[in-house]
Order: sequence, then structure tokens, then C-alpha cells
Amino acid sequence: MFPRAREIDEKTRSIPEDIIKEMVELGIFGVTIPEEYGGSASPGEEMVYAMLAVHEIARGELSMSLPVYTLLNLGWSYLVVRHGSEELKKELLPNGAAGKWFIGISTTEAGGGSDLANIKTTAKKSGNEYVINGEKTYISGVIEATKRGGGHLTLLRTAPELGTKGMTFAYVPARTPGVSYTTFHDMGRMGLSTGGFTFKDARIPAEYVLGEENRGFYINMEGFNVARTLVASACLGGAEKCLELGADYVQRRVLFGRPLAKFEGISFEIAEDLTELEMVKNLLLKGAWMIDQHYKDGSFANKEINRTIAMCKLRAPLLAVDIVKHAMMYHGALGYSKESPLEMCMRGLMSYVVGAEGGANIMKIIIARELMGEAAIPYR
Ligand SMILES: Cc1cc2nc3c(=O)[nH]c(=O)nc-3n(C[C@H](O)[C@H](O)[C@H](O)COP(=O)(O)OP(=O)(O)OC[C@H]3O[C@@H](n4cnc5c(N)ncnc54)[C@H](O)[C@@H]3O)c2cc1C
Repeated sequence: MFPRAREIDEKTRSIPEDIIKEMVELGIFGVTIPEEYGGSASPGEEMVYAMLAVHEIARGELSMSLPVYTLLNLGWSYLVVRHGSEELKKELLPNGAAGKWFIGISTTEAGGGSDLANIKTTAKKSGNEYVINGEKTYISGVIEATKRGGGHLTLLRTAPELGTKGMTFAYVPARTPGVSYTTFHDMGRMGLSTGGFTFKDARIPAEYVLGEENRGFYINMEGFNVARTLVASACLGGAEKCLELGADYVQRRVLFGRPLAKFEGISFEIAEDLTELEMVKNLLLKGAWMIDQHYKDGSFANKEINRTIAMCKLRAPLLAVDIVKHAMMYHGALGYSKESPLEMCMRGLMSYVVGAEGGANIMKIIIARELMGEAAIPYR
């Protein structure tokens, strides 16, 4: 798989169709989509299966492009299953499960991604349609959704005077007239585009709204728990593979008459990294299971899930970067070279350290808020 990851990172700069085709045959894109909409979901176990699938893909594709492409599709199509209208489900989900369309998320605006309550993009009701004006930025999959089909679940202001109680979450196909995109040149995840969307009087039908009008902020937040579970899983999968590469190398590299693995400065670090990795993996498995239980019988409240998933999204990217850095160091100069896949993984993981799906400090705010309530909310 490493040659394919390098190909994605440097040559195709997109996910090759043969890989998507094989993933469709394995049913990967349908893991969170019920059979009646063309998927392969195991009812009540969707998140656990999605988490495992993303973990394995991340172990195999260390540029992180394919894991992120996959997790966005699985996570946000799952939200459509939960909150979409019947019309939207019938239109979107079979195309998602068949790997034809891309389904992503579009919330961030130039005013600050962490401060979502401050978004400016508006949607005004006009008959049975909404008319959208504004701009989004740093959105993953702008090219994929435009070229392949599909679009993004988009956070919009429908009643500006009501703050977060005046926002609506709706599917906006990338090919809608009035929607255009720009692109950024990222440092990693080269097989998946990021960029901005501009909306100029772009019209979508009311059936594209998820849940109710003006409930969008809360539905979006619910979706972040799903997406963050899969983000954490991608980080841990990549880290696990890099840890294995490091452990394998130190057994073979002989210095001062002994394999590097004999030096406790190295073997103990690997032991500590593996211990932490396993702990976060287990917490994440619990979080994924809690989400499944929440949707099955309501046995866990959003509040409990928020806290668990924020802990995983806080820890997984930072731990993963540490583990990859350690593996790079064991490889010496080779670790700094493109002969090794480690550098690709480091570049991809950094997207989740700098903030994609919520920065580390935002995760800390969520954890503190769910423990201490209003007293720990800095902006109220
Ligand atoms: C590769 C990549 C892909 C992305 N894909 C998507 C996508 O598909 N869809 C989408 O909607 N967005 C996407 N994003 C945007 C992402 O969600 C934002 O980067 C994130 O929300 C942070 O917003 P920001 O970059 O504007 O940083 P800012 O909000 O400006 O924050 C800057 C820094 O300040 C910290 N900070 C913020 N508030 C506080 C506080 N109260 N206390 C302490 N520290 C604080 C943040 O954690 C961060 O480190 C993507 C980003 C990247 C890098």
C-alpha cells in the first residue's frame, strides 16, 4: 500500500478510481447507510464498524488522504440517515454508498472556525426553497464534490437575531448554480482538496434541510461527535502503523554492536507509546459504542458522548504526532526522507492538530463544560 500512498501524495493528488471501486465492493462506503438506501450498515453497530474501517484504512494509507476522504463520507452520510428528509436520503445515500458522490461538511468561515456561533452565511426562505449567500473556507472536498457530484452539509443562518437558535443545517450540492469554489495548497493529505465555497443566490429545496429549521447548530454539533470519532480513529490507525514501522526498524538497525531495540531509551519509549495508544483506542471504542447506544435506545445523552469523544479528539492527534515523530527519530536521517512513508503521515496528521474538526483547546473547553457546566464556559 505504501507505493499507492506515495502515488496519491505526489502523483494523482486525488483518490484513484480503482481504490474507490474496491472499497465499494467491500461495502466500506455503506457502513453507516442502511440497506434500504444501498448501504451495508449493521443496525445499532454503525459507529463501531465505521471506526474500525477508518482505522484499518489509515493503517494502509499513510498520506491520510484516503482515511479522511472515507471518514467524511461515512460520518456525514450517517447524519443524513439520522436527520435527513426521505427525499434527501433517497437522493444522496445510494450515491454515497456506491462511492459515486462525495459527502462532506461545510461550517468554517473566515471569521474563525472555532467560533461557529458567529458564522455569517445566510439562507432566506423563498417559497419551498432557501436562497444562500455568503462564504465558507477551509472546506475538505471542494473539488471532489464538484467533479464527482455530492456536496456538503452546510451551517447557515436562517434567523440571525436568534444566535445559535437561528441556524439551519442543510445539504448544499456543490454543483448548485450560484456556488463556486477556490482551493488551497495544503502541506499534507494531498489526495483530498480543501478550499472555500462562495454562495451567490444559490437555491436549495427545503427538503435538503436536516431536522428542523433553526435547529441546525445542535444537529451540526451532534454530527461533530460522529466525525470526531472517525477522525480520532484515523489518527490512531496511522500512528499504530508508524509505531510498528519504528519497532520493526529498531530491531534491525545495529549500532554500538547491538540492535537499537536493546537500548531502553528507545524500547521504553515504544512501550509507553503503545500503552497510550491502546488506552485511547479503548476510550474511542467506548465512545463509538455510546453513540450507537444513543441512537438505538437513548441510553447515553449527548452530554456524556460529547465529553468522551472530545477526550479522544483531544488526545488522538497529539499522541499520533508524537508517535510518528518518535518513529522518524528511530530512523535517523531516513526518517526525514521520502524513502520512508513516515513524513507523509506526519503531514496528514497535522491537519487534525491545527484544528480540523475542532482544535485541541476547543476539545478542552467541551470536556471542562461537560464536567463543570456554565462555570467553565469562557465566552459566556
Ligand atoms: C486540512 C483542513 C481541513 C479542514 N476541513 C474542513 C471541512 O471539511 N469543513 C469545515 O467546516 N472546516 C474544515 N476545516 C476547518 C477547521 O474546522 C478549522 O480549522 C477549525 O475549526 C479551527 O478554526 P480556524 O482554523 O479558523 O482557527 P481559529 O478558530 O482562528 O483558532 C485558532 C487557534 O486558537 C485556538 N482557540 C480558539 N478559541 C479558543 C479559546 N476560546 N481558548 C483557547 N484557544 C482557542 C484554536 O484551538 C486554534 O488553535 C479544515 C481545516 C483544515 C486544516
